[in-house]
Amino acid sequence: MTTHAPRATQSVTLPATLDAAVAALTAMPAAVPVAGGTDLMAAVNRGQLRPAGLVGLGRVNEIRGWQYQDGHALLGAGLTHARMGRPDFAALIPALAAAARAAGPPQIRNAGTLGGNIVTGAPTGDALPVLAALEADLVVAGPGGTRELPVSHLLTGRELLGPAELVGFVRVPLLHAPQVFLKATGRTGPGRATASVAVVLDPARRGVRCAVGAIAPMPLRPLDAEHWIASLIDWDGDRGLAPEALTAFGEYVAAACVPDPPGDEQLPPAVLHLRRTVAALARRALGRALS
Ligand SMILES: Cc1cc2nc3c(=O)[nH]c(=O)nc-3n(C[C@H](O)[C@H](O)[C@H](O)COP(=O)(O)OP(=O)(O)OC[C@H]3O[C@@H](n4cnc5c(N)ncnc54)[C@H](O)[C@@H]3O)c2cc1C
Repeated sequence: MTTHAPRATQSVTLPATLDAAVAALTAMPAAVPVAGGTDLMAAVNRGQLRPAGLVGLGRVNEIRGWQYQDGHALLGAGLTHARMGRPDFAALIPALAAAARAAGPPQIRNAGTLGGNIVTGAPTGDALPVLAALEADLVVAGPGGTRELPVSHLLTGRELLGPAELVGFVRVPLLHAPQVFLKATGRTGPGRATASVAVVLDPARRGVRCAVGAIAPMPLRPLDAEHWIASLIDWDGDRGLAPEALTAFGEYVAAACVPDPPGDEQLPPAVLHLRRTVAALARRALGRALS
């Protein structure tokens, strides 16, 4: 039997602009982009990935901050979780800041980025349900220029990014209204989500948007529950809801996202627990958003 030694990474390029990063990936099709490296290097260390080259994004300053644009925030893909967790960012997009503060231990939050979270697309990616509820768009840079796509398109897998394409920015509507992200973990302290819920109020459209993360390959939107609860809110008044309505919303969301098994089978205990967790997260998240 012939064994092959794993191929070592051949080259590391550190471009200073997004265009130069795209050019480096175009010139070296076998290379992969790396931002904070928290997901990518873990895959390398597990022996799952042996990239022939790396294009580091850490020096691309244009994607490390954000700017305002037509009622939206244009967030650089290189924003770290630590940066998004700070108060000035939290005042802008509170749910994304809450998700960033919950994304792993401090050393991970210092290095891990928004773009890496999106492109990895792990079910437990904390930014993902928030971006789904916000109906964010991605600005993708590639050899043919830039294109935009809804974030929900990318959450199904990396292959939607073409060769040498990079996520440059995330365009998020600024709603100027309460929004909440809550996450349940299997243990105390930082940990991956067993379930998470983002709730966003959109008073201009008299809408409530909700996304449930970590329980399916991509975030789930319980659209019927969103429409039903939005119709009960007095948008011109105090926006309060009776506790029974909050409880019913939680159960509606949970039933939509954690469906019954086929036939008359009883819910297995693990499914019942997950449904209760999702119901509690959704009820609390909406209650906090409306309080
Ligand atoms: C111990 C530990 C705990 C963690 N806990 C959490 C947690 O609680 N919640 C959570 O959400 N995540 C968690 N993570 C996962 C990880 O930290 C995040 O997903 C992080 O946001 C990834 O960002 P990164 O910059 O490190 O990505 P990288 O590892 O650099 O890249 C990840 C993938 O994205 C690609 N990529 C990166 N940037 C771009 C770009 N701009 N355009 C195109 N492709 C790009 C890379 O090629 C690679 O495929 C944890 C990780 C570890 C190791």
